[in-house]
Amino acid sequence: MKRLIAGVGLLAVLLGLVSCTTPAAPPPAQLLILVSVDGFRWDYLQKYEAPVLARLASAGVHATRLTPSFPTKTFPNHYTLVTGLYPSHHGIVGNWFFDPASGETFGMSKPASNSEERWWTGGEPVWITAEKQGVRSACFFWPGSETSHDGVRPSFFKPFDKKLRAADRVAGLLGWLALPPAERPRFATLYFDVVDDMGHRHGPDAPETAAAIKEVDEALARLLAGLDRLGLGARTDLVIVSDHGMSEQSPDQVIFLDDLMKISQVQVDSTGPTGGVRPKPGTVTAAELAASIRAKAPPQLQVWLRDETPARFHFRGNPRIPDVVLLADDHWNFESRTGWPKRVLTYNQGNHGWDPATSNMGALFIAHGPSFRHRVEIPEVENIHLYNLLCAALGLTPAPNDGDQRLVQAALAK
Ligand code: AMP
Ligand code: ZN
Ligand code: ZN
Repeated sequence: MKRLIAGVGLLAVLLGLVSCTTPAAPPPAQLLILVSVDGFRWDYLQKYEAPVLARLASAGVHATRLTPSFPTKTFPNHYTLVTGLYPSHHGIVGNWFFDPASGETFGMSKPASNSEERWWTGGEPVWITAEKQGVRSACFFWPGSETSHDGVRPSFFKPFDKKLRAADRVAGLLGWLALPPAERPRFATLYFDVVDDMGHRHGPDAPETAAAIKEVDEALARLLAGLDRLGLGARTDLVIVSDHGMSEQSPDQVIFLDDLMKISQVQVDSTGPTGGVRPKPGTVTAAELAASIRAKAPPQLQVWLRDETPARFHFRGNPRIPDVVLLADDHWNFESRTGWPKRVLTYNQGNHGWDPATSNMGALFIAHGPSFRHRVEIPEVENIHLYNLLCAALGLTPAPNDGDQRLVQAALAK
C-alpha cells in the first residue's frame, strides 16, 4: 500500500514536472473581433507610424497584401470580406448601382438601401452564419449589417453614424462586450473610415492621412486596454483588414464621357475610376455602344461588354453590372461634363476603384490571437478567402462561397 502511495506520489511529481516544463496552451478564444480600417493601403504599415498595428502584425499573421475584389470600392469589398463571394455573386456590385429587376438605384448613403433585405440576399454574412449556429454577434458598423437575412439579425447592431469618432466606436463596442458572458457577443465587427476619408481628401502621402492612421492606432490601443480590463485580452482573436488601398488622382487626368458617346442615348450608372453605361431603350445595342466608345477611347480607358470583362475580375453575369463596363488606368478617372466646372473645384486628391492588381489598390490583413499562428508573414491572398477563416476561427460551418481553405491553412494555429 505504502508503495502504491509512493508510486502515485512519484507520478504526480513527474506530471507536475511535465506540466511545468511544457508551455501552457493558450486559453481558447472567447471572442473574435473583425476590424476594418477603410482605405488602409497594404504599405501604410511601413510608410506610417502605427505601433499597435505593427506589433499585432509582427506577433501574429500578416499578409504582404490582401487583394481586393473588383470593383475596388467600399460596399462591394466589405460584403465580399464577410460573405466570401465576389461582388457579382453577392450582388452589391458598386457603392451605387442600378437594378434592372426593380428599376431602382441602390445607394450606399440611402437609409433604405442599407435597411431593406431585398438588396442583400446574394450572400450570407458571417454574423448571420454565427447567429444561425448559436453564436451571438454584434456589428459596430459594417455594410449590410443593418438588415435581416432570412429573418435573422445580429444580436447587436447600430445604424451607421459617420460623425462618431474612432474612440467612441471602440467605447460603444466595449459596452456590448461588458455584458454578462451569457449575453455577450462572441463575434463582433468594428469599422473605421477616417483613413479613407483623409486619403480621399488629401491623398495617400498627406500628413492628414498619417494623422488619421495615428487616430485609428490609438483607438485600437484603447480597444486592447478595454479588453484587458474585461479579462478578455488573452482570449480575443483580432482580424484587422481593409477593403482596398488608395491612389493619387488629379483633375488633369480626366476622360470625359461626353467626348466618347452621344450622352443623351445612354444611362450613366456610375463614373470615377470604374463604372459604366447602358444604352437607353430604342437607341443602339450594347455591342454597338461598346464598339463606338472603344473607337474613340483614349489608351487610359478600357471598355468591355458586361460578359466580356477580364475573367480574373469575376465580374460578369449579374444584370446589376452595367451593359458596358469602363475602367480607367491608375490615377485616371472618367466623368460627365455636366456639373464638372463646379465639381473640379473640390476634386479629391485620392481615390480607389482601379484594377485590384494595381499595387496601390492592395489592402491590409492581420490576424492575432489564440486561434492564429505567431510571427508569420504570408504571401498575397484574395479577400474572398476571409469568410472561411472567420468561420473556422469561430467553429462555424460556412455557407457556400467562392473562397477555399488557403487562408485557413496559412493563418489558423494547428
Ligand atoms: P467610398 O470611399 O466611396 O468607397 O466609401 C467610403 C465611405 O463609405 C466611408 O467614408 C463611409 O462614410 C461610408 N460608409 C461605410 N460604411 C457605411 C455604412 N454602413 N453605411 C453608410 N455609409 C457607410
Ligand atoms: Zn473603402
Ligand atoms: Zn474611399
